[in-house]
Amino acid sequence: MNYEPVIGLEVHAQLKTETKAFCSCPTRFGAQPNTQICPVCLGLPGTLPVLNRRMVEFAIRTALAFHGEISKDSVFARKNYFYPDLPKGYQISQYDRPLAVGGYLDIETKVPSPPRGEGQGEGATRRIRLVRIHMEEDAGKLIHEGIPGSEGSSFVDYNRAGVPLIEIVSEPDLRSPEEAGSYLRLLRSVVQYLDVCDGNMEEGSLRCDANVSVRPEGSEKYGTKVEVKNMNSFKSVEAAIQYEIDRQIQAIAAGERIVQETRLWDADPQKTFSMRSKEEAHDYRYFPEPDLIPVMVDAAWIEKVQGGLPELPDAKRRRFVEALELSHYDASVLVSSKSIADFFEKTIAIYNKPKMASNWILSELLRYLHEEGRGIEQSRVTPQLLAEMLRMIGDGALSGKMAKEIFKEVYQTGASAVSIVEKKGLKQVTDESAIAQVIDQVLAKHPDKVQDYKAGKEKLFGFFVGEVMKATRGQANPQKLNTLLKTKLSS
Ligand code: ADP
Ligand code: MG
Ligand code: ZN
Repeated sequence: MNYEPVIGLEVHAQLKTETKAFCSCPTRFGAQPNTQICPVCLGLPGTLPVLNRRMVEFAIRTALAFHGEISKDSVFARKNYFYPDLPKGYQISQYDRPLAVGGYLDIETKVPSPPRGEGQGEGATRRIRLVRIHMEEDAGKLIHEGIPGSEGSSFVDYNRAGVPLIEIVSEPDLRSPEEAGSYLRLLRSVVQYLDVCDGNMEEGSLRCDANVSVRPEGSEKYGTKVEVKNMNSFKSVEAAIQYEIDRQIQAIAAGERIVQETRLWDADPQKTFSMRSKEEAHDYRYFPEPDLIPVMVDAAWIEKVQGGLPELPDAKRRRFVEALELSHYDASVLVSSKSIADFFEKTIAIYNKPKMASNWILSELLRYLHEEGRGIEQSRVTPQLLAEMLRMIGDGALSGKMAKEIFKEVYQTGASAVSIVEKKGLKQVTDESAIAQVIDQVLAKHPDKVQDYKAGKEKLFGFFVGEVMKATRGQANPQKLNTLLKTKLSS
């Protein structure tokens, strides 16, 4: 029997506010432990939370970008549980009246393949519906050192306690680990475009729990789901889901029943293992947070936030294809990350040759960055440097072939193409008499081949071009060389 996987994701995104959700402590990542805390986020008696307006604004921004419906009066609720990283003994979250319901993300399912050409890369899209987006506060962080239970110690850092989060819950609409991956990548790229979350999965700014079940192909009914936690990269999310699908199918084939439980992903043996079953599941005893009034969001506020939304990846890609005539594939890669799109747009703002800029960014720059494991933010090549080099190519001062060599050096040193060309004496030879002189020398050296060419062996043309290029160290302007050579050979 064939089984179909069913996946729903719950994503937590830390909001990039200056201060915490309910107090004025800073939210800077990586600060010394317990230096960004106060009586409110430590839950000391007698303190009261004060809602951070920015948090609500960022949450509205995100919900609108995902086409959710904003509630005019959502309610904070207490989610009660005991854990050392939760000083109050409860987390302020939202429960039955979340900030937003519904909405969707249109993901690309067939990721178009690289070789670029005509008619290629129109990936199919699928709509993944959202259940809700709600606001909550983050908990602190436990740090375990040594072996728990023996020599080891556990420490708790409350800097993260009270950092604003949104939780984005999808419907169980995803059908494969790859789809889950593209959903998560798109989600991350959108929150980065919105500038509400830095999207750093390693640092935990973006965290994803995956709910996974399988069902016989063709069946309408969902199977029992398992929740998998503890993945901190796109790769591990996809690997954990794949592992879980395989595990469940094997279990069912062996006649076992899937139990509803929470499992943790362990990246080292690449396995999930059980953390707690449904029977042991928390009863959170939710009730409305008595210290906070409902969050009132009026139409004017929604309209204002809507009006301030930036151009999102979908719209940007459409514009790149329609207005700049880039291929669907190239445009998709450029908009996949806000920093790549920004780099591209800054480059063409200086030298407006979109196709050329796109080619150099996608084939050369990203390749070098990838080899070095660097992000485009840390590139020594700036849009200014790239634009300057493109202008030299456009003006005929640099051949495409020479440019590749020069670009490597621009990439490595961050020096300008102009200065590198000058230093190396590599300026393209555009002076016709200089090229003509070399052509004469080459033809004089190969009278037999000239004879053959004139007798009809036309493919020798390439040989002559190659010889001239060799003699000029690749610096002859190709168009001029072609024209001159033709004239000379036909005389
Ligand atoms: P819970 O109450 O256990 O948190 P929810 O119904 O709120 O469960 O759903 C939580 C997440 O699990 C959502 O992202 C939802 O899409 C997903 N989900 C629900 N049922 C299934 C299922 N049968 N298989 C896979 N995912 C599911
Ligand atoms: Mg859940
Ligand atoms: Zn505080």
